[in-house]
Amino acid sequence: MSQVVVVGAGLAGLVAARHLAVDGVDVRVLERRDEVGGRVRSVHADGYTFDRGFQVLFTAYPAARRELDFDALDLRYFTGGATIAHPGRRSVLADPLDNLGDLTETLFNTDVRTTDKLRLFRLQRRLGKLDFPDCFDRGPDQSIEAYLAEQGFSRRFVDNFAAPFYGGITLDRSLSTDAGVFRYTFKALSEGKTAVPADGMGAITAQLAERARAAGATVELDTRVESLDAHNDGVSVETDGESIDADGAVVATDPPTAAELTGVDDVPAGTKGCVTQYYSLPGHIDLDTGKKILLNAASADPNQIAPLSAVAPEYAPDDRTLVSATWLGEGDRADDDELAARGREVLESWYPERRFDDFRCVRTERIDVAQFDQPPGFRTDLPAVDAPEGPVVLAGDYTRWSSIQGALESGRVAADRLQ
Ligand SMILES: Cc1cc2nc3c(=O)[nH]c(=O)nc-3n(C[C@H](O)[C@H](O)[C@H](O)COP(=O)(O)OP(=O)(O)OC[C@H]3O[C@@H](n4cnc5c(N)ncnc54)[C@H](O)[C@@H]3O)c2cc1C
Repeated sequence: MSQVVVVGAGLAGLVAARHLAVDGVDVRVLERRDEVGGRVRSVHADGYTFDRGFQVLFTAYPAARRELDFDALDLRYFTGGATIAHPGRRSVLADPLDNLGDLTETLFNTDVRTTDKLRLFRLQRRLGKLDFPDCFDRGPDQSIEAYLAEQGFSRRFVDNFAAPFYGGITLDRSLSTDAGVFRYTFKALSEGKTAVPADGMGAITAQLAERARAAGATVELDTRVESLDAHNDGVSVETDGESIDADGAVVATDPPTAAELTGVDDVPAGTKGCVTQYYSLPGHIDLDTGKKILLNAASADPNQIAPLSAVAPEYAPDDRTLVSATWLGEGDRADDDELAARGREVLESWYPERRFDDFRCVRTERIDVAQFDQPPGFRTDLPAVDAPEGPVVLAGDYTRWSSIQGALESGRVAADRLQ
């Protein structure tokens, strides 16, 4: 195959483009937006870095290790575990192997019973023996909630820790997502670090675009693909301004657009969104959480708060502290000011001893499609990479699972399939 069009310059499309170009294929990546990155983008404004919704990179993801140059990304690391916050009090649940300093607080944490801490430790060891792909194939199709109950974890552990923590990862605080997603991410968290690039999450897709271009691919922005027509000699691609004939195509869009362009009807239809607000506080405010995420154990309003500039000082001007608050779903459809008032109220309730003067909401990101729904057993219903007619293949998280890992891996698999 000598000429291939890749539709979409998210993680999946950019990885597919690079692998094809490295193999000598003439590759054109067509992206409808005026920038690359898809769901992994950042905005720089007034000295701040805002990711398009709170998101992080797990460095243990095998595809991330393969496809990314971590050194060039200049990663900044969260500390493992979390601060569990209730109105008027906070407690720490950390992985002592990650930060010995948190050992005492973790041992004396009464939000999580000792038996649950021991179960966590045993689970870490058990999952450590699995290969990553086996995380999905182990055990019956069940939800994270059912899996945790089967492992013997208490209701208190689920309410105080698992629901906000894994709710944040799966955008579903009810923990109805497939248990394989829990096993995979729990193993990744245990075996690697949680990071953001100093220049924002968008640095990841910027790096992938640079690597695709260096391999010979062209990346064309502001170019929306309207339709694909596969025939005996290849595929005709209609954009908003041009007709392109190619030997093959990779459809690496979001799931709803992939279904529309290819007619493949088992592309997942259900999606999950979130709202992230960014708050700027004066000076260098120490929220007693270090580089650990703050979980809202009392309610989902918001689900979590992340101390971004404590982790990556580059995310804020020198004289400000930047934190983000994330609501799962649509943030109760509240407007920006209402959400900001709620974010401030929650911080004040967690830190009654502090004043939050000069609290500024500096940005709100509303993301309609962040992940696709992953109910128990979802993987058996995913579309095959070669499900479309003719020399057209699918790439994107929705062909594997909704994550940076899933998207990166799907790009390589799609490129291999077209060769
Ligand atoms: C707020 C948020 C938080 C997240 N948190 C995490 C996290 O912490 N860890 C994690 O592992 N994953 C996380 N994810 C999920 C992860 O980011 C996605 O699974 C992954 O980025 C999907 O990449 P993709 O390449 O499959 O699709 P996309 O990023 O959606 O890329 C599709 C591309 O196709 C383009 N496109 C669409 N239609 C057309 C068309 N007709 N013509 C041309 N181009 C088109 C789009 O503009 C886009 O650039 C998060 C996602 C979001 C949004």
